[in-house]
Amino acid sequence: MDIQQKLRVLADAAKYDASCASSGSRRARVEGGLGNTNGVGICHSYTPDGRCISLLKLLLTNYCVYDCSYCINRISSDTQRARFTPEEVVFLTTEFYKRNYIEGLFLSSGVIQSPDYTMEQMVRVAKLLRVEQKFGGYIHLKAVPGASEELLREAGSWADRLSANMELAADRDLAALAPAKSHREIETSMQQIACGILEAKDRTTAAGKGPKFAPAGQSTQFIVGATSTPDSEMLTKSADLYKNYRLRRAYYSAFSPIPHADPALPLKKIPLVREHRLYQADWLIRFYGFSADELTTPADRNLALDKDPKLAWALRNREFFPVDVNKAGEAALLRVPGFGVRNVKRMVRIRRYRKLTLGDLAKLKISVKKSQYFIVAAGHNPAVHEIDSQKLPKKFELASQQMGLFEAAEVARTGEL
Ligand code: SF4
Repeated sequence: MDIQQKLRVLADAAKYDASCASSGSRRARVEGGLGNTNGVGICHSYTPDGRCISLLKLLLTNYCVYDCSYCINRISSDTQRARFTPEEVVFLTTEFYKRNYIEGLFLSSGVIQSPDYTMEQMVRVAKLLRVEQKFGGYIHLKAVPGASEELLREAGSWADRLSANMELAADRDLAALAPAKSHREIETSMQQIACGILEAKDRTTAAGKGPKFAPAGQSTQFIVGATSTPDSEMLTKSADLYKNYRLRRAYYSAFSPIPHADPALPLKKIPLVREHRLYQADWLIRFYGFSADELTTPADRNLALDKDPKLAWALRNREFFPVDVNKAGEAALLRVPGFGVRNVKRMVRIRRYRKLTLGDLAKLKISVKKSQYFIVAAGHNPAVHEIDSQKLPKKFELASQQMGLFEAAEVARTGEL
């Protein structure tokens, strides 16, 4: 196979991994060097559902000694195989970078021989890029669970971001579908990466000088819908990982059926809106003060698909409302549907000088249409019967059916819920 044929096979095989994004790292170009991490949108790699990712996204190889039944690269799959040498990946990355096709590299791999051997090969790519090519662009390496701490340490010294994928939120799912993996092993890798990041921070001087270790942090990925495990379990697991290993991001990737799949797996694609709701819920946990268990109910442990999780919470907890925008604390304001983190801060600043009206909220580009039922403002006091009305959820059902693509994209972009 020549390098182009390998590229076709191994770039295609990498499309199932959604856990890459180039945000969060800053490295300026050095004199005589190549690339930096500040530019965005130079290259575009597309996942099967059309999402755009601006990195050269490759597998070092799609050979794998493991047999995870949700994965097209598992040992029992009859997919076409290929393998790059580290030097070939370095060549492709620098050539694409010079042509402005990409802003960095996302490199993952099937497990060849052993986790250590695989990790060693990926570390070699990053080291060659940084040392020989003086490559200053973004590098995201997949951390192979089970690889030695020493190798993960070295990986973190060259890469901007490391990620060990959880894949499935429940131990029982992993045991059933990926018996060679264990959460204990995956979390050990996460722990080692978290320690490396903390130690590097401790050794960084006030002037920002010091050893670098995965400066863009670590992330992970969950596959959504490959099993019947509900969203509540996934969100609880994510919240634990954020807390325990200072994760920068958890990615949720809706399971899409693979050729010759295990009969235990769903035959249909999981709706993308489920993935979207999980991102919104994850956002609420990280920035809005919600806990994972508030976002679903014991009766329905999956997030509602027809409305965003904050609105769903508000409709279930109407006794919490109305919230007075001129008196309530930030924590209560953040629970109002339509109020985002930035706008809550602005509102708190403005109300020091005068009373806020609905008109003021509209000027802040807050969706008054959505929030009006849940707030008291100067000149606005929704009749209690409106908050308690059985008709209220219906109004939002209609609105969410009418929510256009542009509005959905805006919510996804700003994270304002
Ligand atoms: S270890 Fe990774 S590449 Fe190998 S079968 Fe499992 S998910 Fe696929």
